[in-house]
Amino acid sequence: MRTVTPCKMYIDFHTHRQRHQDERDVIEIISVHPGRHSAIGLYTAGYHPWWVDGNIDSESLAVLEKNLIEDTHCLGVGECGLDSLKGPDPEIQEKAFILQLHLANSLGAPVIIHCVRAFDRILRLRKTYGKTDWVIHGFRRNRTLAAQLIDAGFYLSLSPFAGMPQTFTDMVKYCPDDRIFLETDSDPDMDIKEVYSLAAQIRNVSHETLKADIFNNFQVFFKWKQASLPGWKEQNC
Ligand SMILES: [Zn+2]
Repeated sequence: MRTVTPCKMYIDFHTHRQRHQDERDVIEIISVHPGRHSAIGLYTAGYHPWWVDGNIDSESLAVLEKNLIEDTHCLGVGECGLDSLKGPDPEIQEKAFILQLHLANSLGAPVIIHCVRAFDRILRLRKTYGKTDWVIHGFRRNRTLAAQLIDAGFYLSLSPFAGMPQTFTDMVKYCPDDRIFLETDSDPDMDIKEVYSLAAQIRNVSHETLKADIFNNFQVFFKWKQASLPGWKEQNC
């Protein structure tokens, strides 16, 4: 069967369901609750801030740790983070988030962050706990905040859509080549190939350039697991 050069692949950096499992040119990274995955290919696992009622106990953390250590397909911690509009009290969310950050740091694992109206706190936590690469997934804010996050070392995972506000378009255009990912998250109407088309158009680059840039970012961001991903470690775009 024809193989697809890795840097010609589309990467859906954050999604909750597989849509392209039969297409060899799409990599989907599924976001799951720890311990709840079945054979789904590449994924990340974490305790979402909406669902961390009460504290994460050591048993729950051990489940996550087991995913991360024992499963070569488990690429990182997340989604986890802070949400000011939904879920339990901020203190509870923050505590659960920090526990997961400690785990990520102890393993050298990257972190996929859900952040709603809590960017000051995330930036503050980055200074104290940011020992590995972090990405804000589903980032939709303006260029000024994007620049602040980029300066602090974050990656940004974006999902541009037709008719989005100009401030979002400006930010999609601005996001540096070496910090960008694209995703569909849980939107059933979004197709990752269309997301790439839109992003390429906004950023005024070819599809090939965008795919190669994002593939390189993917390799850098998940470098702690790269050696265990067959056939990929030698491939550079
Ligand atoms: Zn999500």
